[in-house]
Amino acid sequence: MSSLVWFRDDLRTFDHPALYAASLQAGNVRAIYFVTPEQWQRHDLAPIRADLLERHLNAVGQRLAEWGIPMHVITVADYAAIPSALGDFCRQHGISQLYANRDIGIYELSRDAAVQAHCEQWQIACHWFDARCLFAPGSILTGSGDMFKVYTPFSRAWLKKLMAEGYQVWPQPQARGQTLAWQPVTVDYPKVSSQNWFGNENEVLNQLRQFAYDKQIDYTTKRDFPAIDGTSRLSPYLALGVITIRQCLAVMQEVLEQIPFEKSEPGFTWLNELIWREFYQHLLVAYPRVCMHKGFKPETDLIRWPNNEQLFTAWCEGKTGYPIVDAAMRCLNQTGWMHNRLRMIVASFLVKDLHIDWRWGERYFMQHLIDGELAANNGGWQWAASTGADAAPYFRIFNPTAQGQKFDEQGIFIKRWLPELSHVPENYIHTPHDWLKIFDPSNSYPAPIVDHAQAREITLALFKP
Ligand SMILES: Cc1cc2nc3c(=O)[nH]c(=O)nc-3n(C[C@H](O)[C@H](O)[C@H](O)COP(=O)(O)OP(=O)(O)OC[C@H]3O[C@@H](n4cnc5c(N)ncnc54)[C@H](O)[C@@H]3O)c2cc1C
Repeated sequence: MSSLVWFRDDLRTFDHPALYAASLQAGNVRAIYFVTPEQWQRHDLAPIRADLLERHLNAVGQRLAEWGIPMHVITVADYAAIPSALGDFCRQHGISQLYANRDIGIYELSRDAAVQAHCEQWQIACHWFDARCLFAPGSILTGSGDMFKVYTPFSRAWLKKLMAEGYQVWPQPQARGQTLAWQPVTVDYPKVSSQNWFGNENEVLNQLRQFAYDKQIDYTTKRDFPAIDGTSRLSPYLALGVITIRQCLAVMQEVLEQIPFEKSEPGFTWLNELIWREFYQHLLVAYPRVCMHKGFKPETDLIRWPNNEQLFTAWCEGKTGYPIVDAAMRCLNQTGWMHNRLRMIVASFLVKDLHIDWRWGERYFMQHLIDGELAANNGGWQWAASTGADAAPYFRIFNPTAQGQKFDEQGIFIKRWLPELSHVPENYIHTPHDWLKIFDPSNSYPAPIVDHAQAREITLALFKP
């Protein structure tokens, strides 16, 4: 009997139930990963995320090779090609058992259903594990058996279940045989260097530990200020499945000696963000229409967004004349990452100041973010656009200047990303235009492309029932 572990968005060796279960079986164990360039293009996978993926794929392949488990990396066009490619591989290598962790997107679920059907035809037993969320989507429901549409009761139910059931972190598998050679693989997809991020699971686990020991306690007070390094910056690894929420919980528990179940307890604010992540993943499974470019609130699909392409380009390029928006967008374009507060500001600005369909922004984010993840990205955009579950009400419209003044008071973040404003005095940094007119008239920084007060009125009219 030979077993095969199919890796997907779970490029890790710790806390990987499918790998662990396969490693306990007698007979050979192999691993497989499918590179699907056309599918990735359709899903707007960012080149920087592809680069990070390639590095972690090689790190996992190398680690498995050290344990005598060969990893096969196969390129096919898209998900539709996987069932037959997997079937051929299983027949070639005498595989009778397939092990994988469950995925959540609608296309991924239908891919897996097709694989299951194919395997049944060839008498290959499939073993699926729930490892992506702490509790499988569909297992946290209201009293009437539906998915929660509001975050707070979901999080209460989630915490109650955690308190009752606890959690388990799966160990790494035992070595299976002699060390094998690992030939590094190159993923066939456009790539942008991710060298400022860790490409190895142990380094990521160290980063998690460091955050938990050094920064977790101050997270509540520091997390909203983009000039401060106050958040974990673990999202790219959670998105790729290099680490899991269970490992985050285990490290929290190690540092705090307990899981914070109450808002007043240290560490709760950070845990709460991880639960938001779970909420959006559960929503995606319960309401697959959100994977298909639909608003969670169907009535919001009737809004006629003006979608001015020039305004969209200015937003993408960080040339709107609103310094906090422009600094955030240039940071995204240059690094592939953006602080959460800034994501909220630029998303609100695109939709409620420029009146551009939130799906344009969602797509641009996916094409550029190193942590681009369908559930969190869609959830974040629908929250900002007031089209989502438990979203900001449509009349809550961020004032981009006030947001900058509040969260980057001295303009430290702005000056880091907008060098043309580096000499502007602190008290003008959020509204530099009058100062520039007098003291630096040839400065190329653009005038505001819209008037916020007018734009606000247009938004209210667009949303009016
Ligand atoms: C418009 C918009 C788009 C977003 N797109 C993505 C995306 O594509 N991928 C992504 O991982 N996050 C996304 N987020 C959520 C959030 O901005 C990032 O997860 C966060 O900035 C990552 O930084 P961090 O790792 O330092 O987070 P921390 O503050 O340290 O939080 C810990 C972890 O919790 C999760 N998390 C934190 N905040 C949220 C949130 N609001 N929603 C869901 N999960 C959260 C992330 O996995 C994060 O790594 C988006 C938010 C908005 C408003």
